[in-house]
Amino acid sequence: MLSLERFVVTQDLSVALSRDVVKVAHASYMVELAREVWPEHQREPAIFELLVDALATLARLAPTATLLRAYEYRLLSLAGIVPILEQCARCGGSAIGEGLAINLQIGGVICRDCGPVGQPVSAALISYLGQLDRDELAQRAADQVDRDTAYTARELLQQVIHGHLGRELKTLKVIAQLRGQLSSDSSR
Ligand SMILES: [Zn+2]
Repeated sequence: MLSLERFVVTQDLSVALSRDVVKVAHASYMVELAREVWPEHQREPAIFELLVDALATLARLAPTATLLRAYEYRLLSLAGIVPILEQCARCGGSAIGEGLAINLQIGGVICRDCGPVGQPVSAALISYLGQLDRDELAQRAADQVDRDTAYTARELLQQVIHGHLGRELKTLKVIAQLRGQLSSDSSR
């Protein structure tokens, strides 16, 4: 009986601790990303406000991949380096439906008529990315998204960040390691 109680307590503790570790990793990443994207020697109150909001949301809620994506998207948007999604980056025409591609060199989504140039993207991905800067961060943090869309969104935003900074962030590796260790939990 004692050993069973101990087992239960240990399990609870490990869950609680691992969640804290993930929160710490996510918070470190948020800070590093803001610092790196922040234009040098410039006051940037909007970026600071976003960072504070993201950290406060992370403190209140469970750490989720969708919160990170919404934060990344909003930060890249403030820095003016987010890909164009609402229209074709080449012809300016409507970019809705199937057969779309994304080309970061050209600057965003490419319609079917202008393609194929770039990596094919689903309408679900475009719609997911398009809503990342709507509403409160807390609302986005609770979004449910399928595995493929979540993975592609993460990779795409990382390409934008990597393309802008020319290197990978240190804290990103920590998150990737934790994701590997906690892969049974699909929330990340
Ligand atoms: Zn086009």
